[in-house]
Amino acid sequence: MIYYETLSADDLKNEIEALEKRYNAFKEQKLKLDMTRGKPCSEQLDICMDMLDIPAKELRKACDGTDCFNYGVLDGLPEAKALFAEMLEVNTNEIIIGGNSSLNLMYDTIARAMSLGVMGGTPWSKLEKVKFLCPSPGYDRHFAICELFGIEMIVIDMKQDGPDMDAIEKLVSEDETIKGVWCVPKYSNPDGITYSDEVVNRFAALNPKANDFRIFWDNAYCVHHLSDKPDMLKNILTACKEAGNENMVYIFASTSKISFPGAGVAVMASSVDNINSIKKSLTIQTIGHDKINQLRHVKYFKDVDGITLHMKKHAAILKPKFDMVLDILEKELGGKEIASWNKPNGGYFISLNTLDNCAQEVAKLAQEAGVALTKAGATYPYGKDPRDKNIRIAPTMPPVEELKKAIEIFAICIQLVSAKKFLK
Ligand code: PMP
Repeated sequence: MIYYETLSADDLKNEIEALEKRYNAFKEQKLKLDMTRGKPCSEQLDICMDMLDIPAKELRKACDGTDCFNYGVLDGLPEAKALFAEMLEVNTNEIIIGGNSSLNLMYDTIARAMSLGVMGGTPWSKLEKVKFLCPSPGYDRHFAICELFGIEMIVIDMKQDGPDMDAIEKLVSEDETIKGVWCVPKYSNPDGITYSDEVVNRFAALNPKANDFRIFWDNAYCVHHLSDKPDMLKNILTACKEAGNENMVYIFASTSKISFPGAGVAVMASSVDNINSIKKSLTIQTIGHDKINQLRHVKYFKDVDGITLHMKKHAAILKPKFDMVLDILEKELGGKEIASWNKPNGGYFISLNTLDNCAQEVAKLAQEAGVALTKAGATYPYGKDPRDKNIRIAPTMPPVEELKKAIEIFAICIQLVSAKKFLK
């Protein structure tokens, strides 16, 4: 039962007064705390500093003799392909090394489908309607790409082990205008969920009406564990091959939150046929991406074990922040049944659900006390959370002391907004 329902009218009033007192005490501090985006904090960026000390001379020649200071190499240096193929558990001929951003690769993949079609199919822009399935809450920038291109988005509920596959199977098998689905399959943004083997198998076995339907598998947090017992994600490309659907998935990842956001290396992986088809237009788009940065990453990490070791350093900084947020949420909100939240094993976010129709009010109240949260609703297509209850908490960037205050204020706001709903 919701805690405030159990209180007498007088007790509820007293409770609200006490919360308002705490809220105002924080407000008087005129704080400016920013928890809007999932950026690494300054100490995390320090970890990788040595990568930039690799002497220029060592960044010149690739293993096959390529001069990295010159033009050339469309799809990545062999050693970069080897490193990232190992990270994504795919073959080296199933990968393209891109530029500095996986979002850019995803955008380009949609833009290419819109203007040129997928593997000889009709360009999506020539069709009357194009729809995408959007498991939600999800990543706002995925949704923004669809919105920009006029792709209609259909909300799919998230369950404990991934998206609602019954809904996805039914919709894609019946509707030819559904051309894709967005997935963040590991430590999802924002729920922190890793898809179960069953969900991966059901994705791989989809039988879409549109033969140019593609799964956009954004594995942004594939190595971003917070615990020594990481979640395991089944390999979607292997599963698709086993199901006879090897062309159905595009996989994306980057080192943005491994090395440097905005100065990392992005990759995409897919079947050989998809990769070859993409390369045909990619070769018109660019002569090649930044090979010096590719080589820098390979020299620094060496292999996947190097990446795993490096990610432990990130986890050592992030785990105490996540633990602190979870402790405060439990202390302030535990047992009151006014909010629920996840305890992620990795990734960058904690996703919190308030009671229905409270999230926007909570975010507004927090903003007035100097705490900027990701806009309520942003985790849903068109920025519209149908039940106005989801808020994405991004604990990585603020220093610990700031984060502590911000979460305390946030938790007070949730209690205040919820309690006032029960005032008679
Ligand atoms: N995908 C997801 C799910 C993300 O959370 C982010 C970063 N917030 C990105 C992609 C962006 O990746 P990149 O920096 O490689 O463009």
